[in-house]
Amino acid sequence: MSKAYEVTEHQYDVVVVGAGGAGLRATFGMAAEGLTTACVTKVFPTRSHTVAAQGGMSAALANMGEDDWRWHMYDTIKGSDWLGDQDAIEYMCKNAMQAVIELEHYGVPFSRTDEGKIYQRPFGGMTTNFGEGTAQRTCAAADRTGHAILHTLYQQSLKNNAEFYIEYLALDLIIDDEGVCRGLWAWCLEDGSLHRFRAHEVVLATGGYGRSYFSCTSAHTCTGDGTGMVLRAGLPLQDMEFIQFHPTGIYGSGCLITEGVRGEGGYLTNSNGERFMERYAPTAKDLASRDVVSRSMTIEIREGRGVGANGDHIHLHLEHLGPGVINERLPGIAESARIFAGVDVTKEPIPVLPTVHYNMGGVQTNYLGQVVTLKNGDPDAVVPGLMAIGEAACVSVHGANRLGSNSLLDLIVFGRAAAQHCAATIKPGQTHKALPDSIDDFCLSRFDRILHNDGSTPVAKIRDNMQRTMQNDAAVFRTGETLAEGIEKMKDVHASFGDVKVSDKSLIWNTDLVEALELDNLLGNAVVSIHSAANRLESRGAHAREDYPDRDDENWMKHTLVWLNEQGEVRFDYRPVHMYTLTDEAEVIPPKKRVY
Ligand SMILES: Cc1cc2nc3c(=O)[nH]c(=O)nc-3n(C[C@H](O)[C@H](O)[C@H](O)COP(=O)(O)OP(=O)(O)OC[C@H]3O[C@@H](n4cnc5c(N)ncnc54)[C@H](O)[C@@H]3O)c2cc1C
Repeated sequence: MSKAYEVTEHQYDVVVVGAGGAGLRATFGMAAEGLTTACVTKVFPTRSHTVAAQGGMSAALANMGEDDWRWHMYDTIKGSDWLGDQDAIEYMCKNAMQAVIELEHYGVPFSRTDEGKIYQRPFGGMTTNFGEGTAQRTCAAADRTGHAILHTLYQQSLKNNAEFYIEYLALDLIIDDEGVCRGLWAWCLEDGSLHRFRAHEVVLATGGYGRSYFSCTSAHTCTGDGTGMVLRAGLPLQDMEFIQFHPTGIYGSGCLITEGVRGEGGYLTNSNGERFMERYAPTAKDLASRDVVSRSMTIEIREGRGVGANGDHIHLHLEHLGPGVINERLPGIAESARIFAGVDVTKEPIPVLPTVHYNMGGVQTNYLGQVVTLKNGDPDAVVPGLMAIGEAACVSVHGANRLGSNSLLDLIVFGRAAAQHCAATIKPGQTHKALPDSIDDFCLSRFDRILHNDGSTPVAKIRDNMQRTMQNDAAVFRTGETLAEGIEKMKDVHASFGDVKVSDKSLIWNTDLVEALELDNLLGNAVVSIHSAANRLESRGAHAREDYPDRDDENWMKHTLVWLNEQGEVRFDYRPVHMYTLTDEAEVIPPKKRVY
């Protein structure tokens, strides 16, 4: 190593990495149970991507019409195209009501009905009576739900004395020879110091990797750091081929227009002014599931019915809703459309295009939030000391396609479950076992290697190549040919990281180094995603293969597990979908054709 680093050691009962909705719900819950809890975050907590969530959080509260959590469970399983684990989905939908009411009591200012109950709006794929009617299930704080939740949870975490390490970049996990996670490494951006955190459980809540694509709705910080660390630790990721495109990103900027707009009555048209969703999804129309709407829009554009000078996008109308509804329920959307598209939504439609929005894949866990892996034939073997929640995790409640407003729910329900699990299994102040000295070499030598690499290619160039490859070759529609081309290009992009050049050699606020480390993580995520997409020879949920247009339950109703080695080579195995429930209060939903 070219330089001895200044290292500070910390010991906590639990360390949570990430201060988005999932990380903060876990942090606050653990601190409230008397565990010493550190939350390590690379951005200020309330700047995490969750702050941008607009539409809301689902829960069968039945405040605005009949509802039942079993109907919510049915919708989620159907939405997942039968790839979701039914035990985890049952757990999420059943705990949803309690999780929302708790949030309300902690202080989330939900919008209200005239009678003072929590307001709920319709959302794509959310039905009553097992697909018969339309449910109003999505609890919203206007169109700023994530903002409201994040601020409330941060305040609650501070009140319960959780300790925050803000603007610390987590680098790598510390895993011992027995495969037990013992802590993690982080770099303090402000003063350049390195920190070794010891913990009985490390909880990864680092969010998604949307930034592996050129056009996405996610923040620049969504770089898959947690999933990157897990790959480097020699553990697999699950279902990485399933990437959700949101139908309505603003054309050009990618900025999100919430599905809540269509929930409130907004609709899409093509260049003939036709409401084309009526042809593709006769019942649900504009509120069909996201993958269905994104594909329909792509077909309209391909067949020459796109709008605009180049016929390359679609119109989203909300003029007919009137200024009253828009100002009360969708004020943020009106502002985004004005700023990013120059459109007055009370008078004209918004130009929109399907844009990468969410990663269904991630670190595989059970419904308690414990990371599991395939070991000695057991597909659900727990990795001791390591947990994952939120978008970084794959529980898997979203399977092949996530329903809108089910992610905020996933964050809160499994953040809460993780806190309960730690409270039940860790004794506050339990001692930490000593670690062998050699255990630190892996992380420190990687950090040092990237900082001092003698290369000539700037981070931005490698990142741009990666993003364009993913955008073009792992898109809404995929074929074996485009994916094979993408894999070849990605091989070169991955190899080019060996020539990365970090110009700034200091340790203090070195954003050049931050971006290089993030790019390394993004590359791992991108490589395993595109390989997983080429490997799955069927169409299911968000994964649409033109050469394999049908779902193939016989061969492919299974989760993909993918490992990555240092050379950028992948290895696959599989894990069965959980076709069972935890209690007899709900029944397993057997697979059938998915129509809306
Ligand atoms: C624009 C937009 C709107 C959305 N709207 C909705 C909606 O209405 N309803 C819904 O259900 N879902 C919605 N989603 C999806 C949902 O918001 C996200 O899936 C969810 O917020 C992810 O939360 P998270 O807690 O997993 O991670 P994030 O909120 O992304 O937070 C990640 C955290 O990890 C930290 N972190 C990451 N890497 C490191 C590292 N190396 N070191 C230290 N810290 C690190 C970051 O600092 C951050 O605190 C939306 C998504 C987007 C992009």
